[in-house]
Amino acid sequence: MRLRNKPWASDFISQYPQYLIQAPENQKGKWNELFGNDNPIHIEVGTGKGQFITGMAKQNPNINYIGIELSENVVVLALQKLVDVELPNVKLLNVNANDLTNIFEKGEVGQVYLNFSDPWPKKRHIKRRLTYKTFLALYETILADKGEIHFKTDNQGLFEYSLMSFSEYGLLLKYVSLDLHNSNMEGNIMTEYEEKFSKKGQRIYRVEVQYK
Ligand code: SAM
Repeated sequence: MRLRNKPWASDFISQYPQYLIQAPENQKGKWNELFGNDNPIHIEVGTGKGQFITGMAKQNPNINYIGIELSENVVVLALQKLVDVELPNVKLLNVNANDLTNIFEKGEVGQVYLNFSDPWPKKRHIKRRLTYKTFLALYETILADKGEIHFKTDNQGLFEYSLMSFSEYGLLLKYVSLDLHNSNMEGNIMTEYEEKFSKKGQRIYRVEVQYK
């Protein structure tokens, strides 16, 4: 997601250290202390403008959510949403998913969400796809036993690639939908991209996989 540069972003971010956590590696192994409870921690990698994570947090107050977003210009928009709704069970991090194992202790995370991840269609960029095997290994390290990844996309190529990548990694495919919005899934929270693409008539693919 490329957005115009926002010169005010850093200032705004610095006003809300309780929501957008600075130096998150210092919280490694201590995220539950920060939330002040023992509830499970679910992370969304590539959280974008934050509609999904804030929606999920409202729907599930007994789960702690952490949104991981690489771009400061984008995470600041998620932060604005969070400031408006004041949810105690959401934190945001402006970091690269490559750093996940520096930020979370082994087994500290209950579930990983990937929503409309950048498809990186060129073969030479395959390692950047968030469902590439090296990312699957990072998620495995920080996930608890039998942890799950829930993945949604409108991109058929990325979906097919990801199913193969999950399967080659030895993950268990628990649920697959080739048309989420015409399925019987209840309580789906739409992301910004999901709204945009489904309005254009594009199908949404979804899969839930589990580490064995
Ligand atoms: N999930 C949102 C949605 O569905 O509306 C945003 C989708 S957007 C296509 C992908 C987002 O992932 C972008 O905001 C991008 O900055 C972020 N992203 C891409 N690679 C990332 C990485 N390695 N670590 C963290 N965020 C990443």
